Amino acid sequence: MTMLVRRVVLAALLLTLLGQGMMGPRPSLAASPPLYSVEASVEYGAGLVTARETVAFTNLSSQTLESLVFNVTPAYYGAFELRRAAVNALEVEQMLDGSILELPLPHPLPPGASVVASLDFKIVVPRQGGRFGRGPQVMALGNWLPLLAVYRDGRLLSEGQERGWVRGQYVDVGDAFFSQTADFLVTLRSDQPLSVAHTGDLVKQEDTVWAFEARGVRDFALALSPDFSVVSQEVEGVDVAVFYLPGHEAIASTYLRAAVETLAWMKQKLIPYPYRHLHLAEINAINSGTVGQEYPSLILASDGMAATYGGLDSSGGILAIHETAHQWYYGIIGNDQLYEPWVDEALVTWLSYHLLRAKGLGSFAGIWQDRVANPRPPSLPVNSSIYDYPSDGPYFSVVYRRGALFLEELYQSMGEEPFFAALKEYSASFSGRVANPYALLDAMQAHTSTNLNHLIRRYFSYPRYQADEPLRVSARYPLQDWSEAVRITLESDVPLQEVQVFVDDSLYSRALPAHVFLETAQLEEGPHLLTLRVSDGQREVDLTGTFSVVRRPPPPPPAALPTPAPTLEAALETPDEEIVGNPTEADDPAAQASVVRTAAGIALVTISIAALAASLVRHI
Ligand SMILES: [Zn+2]
Repeated sequence: MTMLVRRVVLAALLLTLLGQGMMGPRPSLAASPPLYSVEASVEYGAGLVTARETVAFTNLSSQTLESLVFNVTPAYYGAFELRRAAVNALEVEQMLDGSILELPLPHPLPPGASVVASLDFKIVVPRQGGRFGRGPQVMALGNWLPLLAVYRDGRLLSEGQERGWVRGQYVDVGDAFFSQTADFLVTLRSDQPLSVAHTGDLVKQEDTVWAFEARGVRDFALALSPDFSVVSQEVEGVDVAVFYLPGHEAIASTYLRAAVETLAWMKQKLIPYPYRHLHLAEINAINSGTVGQEYPSLILASDGMAATYGGLDSSGGILAIHETAHQWYYGIIGNDQLYEPWVDEALVTWLSYHLLRAKGLGSFAGIWQDRVANPRPPSLPVNSSIYDYPSDGPYFSVVYRRGALFLEELYQSMGEEPFFAALKEYSASFSGRVANPYALLDAMQAHTSTNLNHLIRRYFSYPRYQADEPLRVSARYPLQDWSEAVRITLESDVPLQEVQVFVDDSLYSRALPAHVFLETAQLEEGPHLLTLRVSDGQREVDLTGTFSVVRRPPPPPPAALPTPAPTLEAALETPDEEIVGNPTEADDPAAQASVVRTAAGIALVTISIAALAASLVRHI
């Protein structure tokens, strides 16, 4: 079946789930991200930041909430002083436990309801290098804002996990932060002129006042310095800029080239980069260490890297490639960085070396051998958490290197095309969302006839992949019946027991495999994620796809209908379609054509729904 028809079908999946245990309507994540409004003042020389952060939050979980939970990284450093906390303008008592801040809600917040919380706080930026601190030349404000924790529910609730706010304390291993995407409006005032590298877009600047807007990002970070120079280059509509310290021209041009080439390569191999800017800023190192740190549309790289300039395969080049690839894995496609950090780190590690190979650099083999493939003693499973490690050394060894070794075996076993087809589909499905770790592994298995369980269980301890054979299921839905309710037919060689149907992050129904229905009426307009978690009683597999709800006004009288109806009929005559991802490459010229055709298809489908509804009314 052509991509066109598939997209028409997916667009036509206008869901509400019937089946057993249907639940009420719920806003989609895409429609209601948290909105952070921040007014911040910086006293640069004194290292002080005072701020008011206001967060508009909608409860997208299935549970009534009694409190809001924030991650406050500065509290880990003893740098955070909360002056006032309020919910819907009522001052509330706060509880700060380590880096976890909890605000009790004056009234319980049911699913779908919204609340506005505000925090007035002061940060005494510690005198230290690294991603949060002030060194001799740079103030790095990574993880400075209190961010809502992720509420683990529905699709994000894996076996053995508890429903509720993820209360992972900040630790000094890995990247101990985990958040959903949100919108940020930030105003920054400084007591002196500064150069500012930032997440998102600079929408206004007057002297030492900056206004930023960042939509669909997991965090908002800054690097401030009176000493930055900037070198930049535009690549396919994205402005890539490197903010560097005096005398560091060589590493700046290394970073710029690596970031530009990675951005173009990732975009071509996977999915588009959705932001207009990518900034890379040097920061002062901790103990002259070499550190790179990813934030949405902002990369921080320590000045300890200054001498590592060169080509893409220099240490500086590889660092910039790694952090740019994080823009996708962690940034655009989120994962639980506390308990499943391999999902982004292993992927980004493997991709950064694979890019050298893909570019034909002869140094690839030696670099891979030195940095990744060196034999290491047996260790923890790749799916261990940041809390399983005392320090970064053993953590890198397992999560980054063994994780990358797994992906290399997977790549060799699947081959280039199926491997990247699976990765692209996974990326498109979870763009702007959080993926669970099964999603990536199941997407890979869905794209190969090779049994991957043997490989997966050599590296991972997930119970789901311990069986000798994976559970293979495909999901189809008949096109002819979608007008009232779409029935999903599951096909498998073995009897199936149960299907959990998730729309976006929420569990919508549990159904018998023979009774999975989807209907249109109660979902919000816009893109949605569909996950079918299928079990045969012993084994489980996740099938993932995306669809868009599009509503149109009622059609004009039949005589005025446009003529391209045959296209729709052609679609309707086509047999069942498998549920797979719906990658959209709006920037790719070839894909642009199909996006346009898809839009036409959506209009047609919608008109037909209305026409059919009218005829049903007449029958009744
Ligand atoms: Zn990384």
